[in-house]
Amino acid sequence: MLDDYLAEKRSLSHLTFRENCPLASYTTFGIGGAADYLVMPETEEALINLIGYLRRQEIRFFLCGNGSNLLFDDKGYRGVVILTKKLRSFRIVDTVMEAAAGASLIAVAAAAAHASLSGLEFASSIPGTVGGALFMNAGAHGGEMKDVVLSSRYLDAEGRIREITEHSFSYRSSLFQENGGIVLSCRLGLHYGRPDEILCKISENRKKREDTQPVKMKSAGSVFRRTESCIPAKLIDEAGLKGLSVGDAAVSEKHAGFIVNRGNATAADVLSLIEKIRERILLQYGKELVCEIRYIPER
Ligand SMILES: Cc1cc2nc3c(=O)[nH]c(=O)nc-3n(C[C@H](O)[C@H](O)[C@H](O)COP(=O)(O)OP(=O)(O)OC[C@H]3O[C@@H](n4cnc5c(N)ncnc54)[C@H](O)[C@@H]3O)c2cc1C
Repeated sequence: MLDDYLAEKRSLSHLTFRENCPLASYTTFGIGGAADYLVMPETEEALINLIGYLRRQEIRFFLCGNGSNLLFDDKGYRGVVILTKKLRSFRIVDTVMEAAAGASLIAVAAAAAHASLSGLEFASSIPGTVGGALFMNAGAHGGEMKDVVLSSRYLDAEGRIREITEHSFSYRSSLFQENGGIVLSCRLGLHYGRPDEILCKISENRKKREDTQPVKMKSAGSVFRRTESCIPAKLIDEAGLKGLSVGDAAVSEKHAGFIVNRGNATAADVLSLIEKIRERILLQYGKELVCEIRYIPER
């Protein structure tokens, strides 16, 4: 039945899909077995209809942006992985950036800079989509999504479209992690600035990142959440765990908060390495590290 639905929608150019699709190439970690289906809606309407259909049929699904904060299981995903990347439109109206959920944060930040709009310099090298960034309240260099989001539209659990201005943002967290809402689009409030200053800030941020993070290696960014009393990368470094590895998964030599895939790392390697790190930090410092990256089990 799902096959028929997808084939019909594909023929109407509402979506594209692949069956038994390896997820590794859809994540920045380069890890993950095959999903039963990987579906890419071409329009917001197609996304909404697809989710309605999957909910009615009680078919399990998972929403994936750029896969830059995810660890899919080696056995893949039983159900449908929905990729939002084709919903990538955005436009600027005065000082407001209106962006669809699948728009690249890097592209949106670059467009804002070219329009002399300041506010998204912090986001200019976070490799996520707008939807993933809202869900995670992504942030860097002293800025977070919560500083710029004016409003967002999302699909709620009953299939209604809602528009909100209050998102219960906190560190790497948002309302969407509580209510399962699916971000459709958002409005970001920016302000005019001097183009040279905006571009200078962006290249400064990018350089800082390149100097301190393994940006050329496969990873999912910081593995553990920071708290007021705990900077995981600092503790991991002090504990001498840089370079610690399981299979091809290793604690980055450049930034102890990152686990990198040196080639053929599996999800099992990464999970086992995470456990080793957590055990050592608990033993040595009495601190419980909490994962920021999201592990998605097979079922
Ligand atoms: C090299 C590197 C550097 C990074 N640096 C930073 C950094 O500086 N700061 C930072 O905060 N993060 C950083 N990250 C992590 C990551 O880029 C962010 O968390 C980003 O916001 C994730 O966006 P995404 O589109 O890739 O989401 P995904 O990884 O695809 O998904 C993350 C979560 O968001 C949910 N989601 C995705 N789209 C939607 C939607 N439309 N509606 C509802 N839920 C959705 C998914 O279901 C999933 O639970 C980094 C990652 C890498 C690889």
